[in-house]
Amino acid sequence: MKYENSLEFAQQCDAKDPLRHFRNQFHLPTATDGNPLIYLCGNSLGLQPKKTTAYIEEVLGDWAALGVEGHTEANHPWLPYHEFLTKTMAEIVGAKPSEVVMMNTLTTNLHLMMVSFYQPTSTRYKIVVESDAFPSDKYAVKSQLKFHGFDAEEGLILWKPREGEELCRFEDLEAIMEEQGDEVALLMIGSPNYYSGQAFPLKKITELGHKHGAKVGFDLAHGAGNIQPNLHESGADFAVWCSYKYLNSGPGSLGGCFVHERHAENEQLKRFTGWWGHNKETRFNMRKEFEALPGAEGWQLSNPPILSMAAIRASLDVYAEAGFDALRKKSVQLTGFLEFLLKEVETDSIEIITPSNPDDRGCQLSIQVKNADKSLHDKLTKAGVISDWREPDVVRVAPVPLYNSYEDVFEFVERLKKILW
Ligand SMILES: *Cc1c(COP(=O)(O)O)cnc(C)c1O
Repeated sequence: MKYENSLEFAQQCDAKDPLRHFRNQFHLPTATDGNPLIYLCGNSLGLQPKKTTAYIEEVLGDWAALGVEGHTEANHPWLPYHEFLTKTMAEIVGAKPSEVVMMNTLTTNLHLMMVSFYQPTSTRYKIVVESDAFPSDKYAVKSQLKFHGFDAEEGLILWKPREGEELCRFEDLEAIMEEQGDEVALLMIGSPNYYSGQAFPLKKITELGHKHGAKVGFDLAHGAGNIQPNLHESGADFAVWCSYKYLNSGPGSLGGCFVHERHAENEQLKRFTGWWGHNKETRFNMRKEFEALPGAEGWQLSNPPILSMAAIRASLDVYAEAGFDALRKKSVQLTGFLEFLLKEVETDSIEIITPSNPDDRGCQLSIQVKNADKSLHDKLTKAGVISDWREPDVVRVAPVPLYNSYEDVFEFVERLKKILW
């Protein structure tokens, strides 16, 4: 696509955008003066679909009218409610339905997955993460190392960018595995990385890990609903994600979990269990020994919060209507437009650290601003832009294809320029 640096061009792109009407399906936050804000923070908390209210009210209404009978008699019965989410969720992450379940929250799922897929021995116990992994991920893997009696510093290998660089190179991960592969039990990589926006080649990483005898898992907090991770095809052992970022399901909403189908019926795998992971036929025959459901569902613990799942169902219905491939296509163009405009800014004080190849990123661009501090972010907020600041000097902006427009992107860069000059 050939871009032009003008408001007219942005407006023409919006007029031609086949997905433009989806913006009206969302509540767009406004400033106290009533003016609309430029919301570029869908990587942190996705906006609320207007449908969400009705979906939650349906559950509240069924609960009021039916009480416990709602488990079987509700409009969307609560017993199998998580199953209503599976088909679309599986499509969005490129998995088979039996490989996906929505349950718990992200970090909880990460621990549950490590109970099954981090099985260290005295010689093979190390965990590899990307160096700027999200804090919760780092805390989780370190606590697993300690839980198994290892030194968390010694057992954690960081896949780092080279001196003076911001991005991780695949060949450096290969070098780590060449040198220490027989000591590595697990590769756990977040993609795209929350800070740099760099998306990693999941299939290549999985093949590398497996070649050296390690298990491989991914944290797709910034991937689900943003890039197509093709989880099944990647061969990863497991993946986890949340639903409140790109998946627009509300603050703290439930997470997702993927377990590759080759583990679906493996009874040798250790796992922490609860009644919702037990055979549906005999779940209420409470005296039976635990018998895991095949596939990802077998990792469920509790009967889940239906109110929260109703919000996920509303959001996934919007995704299904738009179609993920169409969304991704727009996303590549929208972020390409943002990159184009930023490069037009006549200053050497800003640098985009996110990769410029669309295959190596999602919609987020991380912009490093020389000599900036958090006051830059405060000025952006005053100017009506909702973005995200990461110390020491990075503004993260994520135009999302469901509700952001080309005009949003143009306006953002105009306001940024005014602040920088
Ligand atoms: C947002 C995010 C989390 C948050 O975890 P919760 O358990 O949902 O609080 C964890 N990891 C990554 C990579 C994230 O981006």
